[in-house]
Amino acid sequence: MSIHIILEKCTGCALCVKVCPFDAIRLMEKKVSIDLDKCNLCGACVHTCRPKAIVIDKPESACALPNIKDYKGIWVFIEQKNGKIQSVSYELLGKAQELAKKLACKVSGVLIGNNLDDQLDELAWQGADNIYLVQAPEIANFQDEPYTNILVKLVQKYKPEILLCGATAIGRSLISRVAIKIKAGLTADCTGLDIDPDKKILLQTRPAFGGNIMATIISPNYRPQMATVRHKVMQPIAPDKHRKCKVIRENFDNGLYASRTKLLDIVEEIESLVNIAEADIIVSGGRGMGGPENFKLLEELAHILGAAVGASRAAVDSGWMPYSHQVGQTGRTVSPKIYIACGISGQIQHLVGMQSSKIIVAINKNPDAPIFKVATYGIVGDLFEIIPALTQKFKQALKR
Ligand code: FAD
Repeated sequence: MSIHIILEKCTGCALCVKVCPFDAIRLMEKKVSIDLDKCNLCGACVHTCRPKAIVIDKPESACALPNIKDYKGIWVFIEQKNGKIQSVSYELLGKAQELAKKLACKVSGVLIGNNLDDQLDELAWQGADNIYLVQAPEIANFQDEPYTNILVKLVQKYKPEILLCGATAIGRSLISRVAIKIKAGLTADCTGLDIDPDKKILLQTRPAFGGNIMATIISPNYRPQMATVRHKVMQPIAPDKHRKCKVIRENFDNGLYASRTKLLDIVEEIESLVNIAEADIIVSGGRGMGGPENFKLLEELAHILGAAVGASRAAVDSGWMPYSHQVGQTGRTVSPKIYIACGISGQIQHLVGMQSSKIIVAINKNPDAPIFKVATYGIVGDLFEIIPALTQKFKQALKR
């Protein structure tokens, strides 16, 4: 695609300068000019330009539009490591079940690996109506090329209308390759998924423009509609041991499993001391903590509650806490039972990382802080008085 200005039509009104999120447009001698290094062809200027002086040229689509009616059902790529299903897959099955009710369709998991039959019951209990199972020793562990080839073949054969995948290292690597091969769109890192009640298409919501807005993205013309979602953003459903799933076993020619890379070893990731992504309770501090020494207050409270300590980006950027503790868009996504936000204002980039917590307690001296909009319980006041008082009370109540 390319963008150009029809100078005869440009009135120099500069509306496009104001709307450009990338600061790519300048007014020079009463005509606008576009800095192509900054422009990302988002089209915001085109929509604003009343005299229609800005044009984005789109090449004729090389790929034919698919027959959308042929595509049915919601698929979840089931991620496994060393034969163990990763929890993000259960979370996606839970969400897929919710979406499937609105589309009156089935939820299917795609499971690739070896010796995975003992995982099928659990997948059925947690939301899979069907499992497409591909097993062979060569594909026991994830590798880009064979997994991409297999998923592409399955999508082409069975035509799902939606394909969901975890925004994990494996998921990101796999699904972008699949999207390119099948010429479908892909929305990465969604924080919300829903179905448009009229058009019955997937509404894929994610932070955009540096997290300043939440954008809802649709793929109306191509199938499947593909999205990735980070760990802990969606909720799994409660396992129902009466649920059964249909297993569709697929075998492919060995050539499909070939890979130009060779897997030598799998080295376990060394988790940070406090894995905030798995903690049931998180006590988190922001700029309002005032300095690194004051995080001791949070550590004391966390110790009594058996909690992990989190931080906002402001606290991390100030060097008060290591990055591994950062919660939010560019940090970890967490979903604990209790999230206690201390001296955190609640900007959208922080909220997207913690708003699915079951109970949110906010301590902030500003009663208008946005964090109170998502808080289950709000305490307006000085955290330097409130946190020690809470620690004292919990110490007594929990006898610790
Ligand atoms: P502030 O916004 O400064 O808020 C401090 C709060 O402390 C205020 O509400 C104040 O009232 C309160 N306070 C001060 N003193 C006291 C006291 N004594 N008692 C009680 N309350 C007090 N942010 C993240 O957190 N995580 C991310 O992953 C993240 N990613 C980002 C990605 C991008 C692309 C961008 C542009 C921004 C990102 N941010 C992220 C930054 C985010 O926009 C905010 O700047 C940040 O979250 C603010 O941190 P804060 O709430 O600690 O600080």
